[in-house]
Amino acid sequence: RLLVVGSSNTDMILQVQNLPRPGETVLGGQFSTAPGGKGANQAVAAARAGADVSLVARVGRDSFGEQALAGFAGDGIDTRHCSVDDSAPSGVAQILVSAAGENCIGVAPGANATLAPRHLDSASEAFRKCAVVLLQLETPLATVERAAALGRDADAVVILNPAPACELPDSLYPLLDMITPNETEAEHLTGIRVTDESSAAAAARVLHKRGVTTVLITRGASGVYLSREAGQNAVTGESFPAFEVDAVDTTAAGDVFNGCLAAALTRGETLERCVRFAQAAAALSVQVLGAQTSAPDIAAIDAFFQS
Ligand code: ADP
Repeated sequence: RLLVVGSSNTDMILQVQNLPRPGETVLGGQFSTAPGGKGANQAVAAARAGADVSLVARVGRDSFGEQALAGFAGDGIDTRHCSVDDSAPSGVAQILVSAAGENCIGVAPGANATLAPRHLDSASEAFRKCAVVLLQLETPLATVERAAALGRDADAVVILNPAPACELPDSLYPLLDMITPNETEAEHLTGIRVTDESSAAAAARVLHKRGVTTVLITRGASGVYLSREAGQNAVTGESFPAFEVDAVDTTAAGDVFNGCLAAALTRGETLERCVRFAQAAAALSVQVLGAQTSAPDIAAIDAFFQS
């Protein structure tokens, strides 16, 4: 079983030809709404990839929140530990997507900001039953830290996708088994600009020194750099090139990658195979517009993976 602790948002998506510069207005866009939020996206991606998923999240008492919870249930996610905040609105993300597939995002966290450590205490049974805990940074850091500690106590594999980038307390790293920054987040955490395999290896070493044994740096269309501690200061590194596809919208590539990585890990597969599986799912997702809407199901991933 996989336990995801994280955010739920409603994405307000505006497709435009080119992203506007500050002060600029671009006309001729197309608008749509879709369920989003890194926690929810990753939970949905994992559920579609075949995992049994429990989600700890918080929404407002409004139609966005209702729709989000109904969507989770529709994907077969256990929502027993999702709660409703009576005073804060559901989280909202304003997303601009260009014709080239680049994006630009602003988030109003709303009820995500009130997901507190005490909401995890009431999910203690879910922690006991899970093999993998998957976390991101769109909910308060104190909650992320507590979730990592509870996951560690339960002997689960604890994965942090450190997105969006922010400063992390030193005490958090030793509670993690795996960290999965993209290039920007890796630079934010380590101060090392990641542009190729050797800079990825250097950034990974910094994260190993802080106490994480497995570092996965996702590098967009350049794939994934995996770095593992092999005892006594020895580190092994390996690159996994991305599948070559035509990207339409990379909004949730990282979310699909992380959700599917965690899903594959609950099945006890080798880490290499989990990475390839997650990359296949992410490559499928970037060919479709949207966040949760673009998460592929297990049949599509298997078909793509095996072809
Ligand atoms: P994030 O969305 O968090 O910035 P990345 O852009 O690094 O994360 O994407 C995560 C993973 O998704 C990549 O490691 C890669 O395997 C896959 N991916 C992302 N963009 C593409 C792309 N254009 N083509 C194929 N695979 C992609």
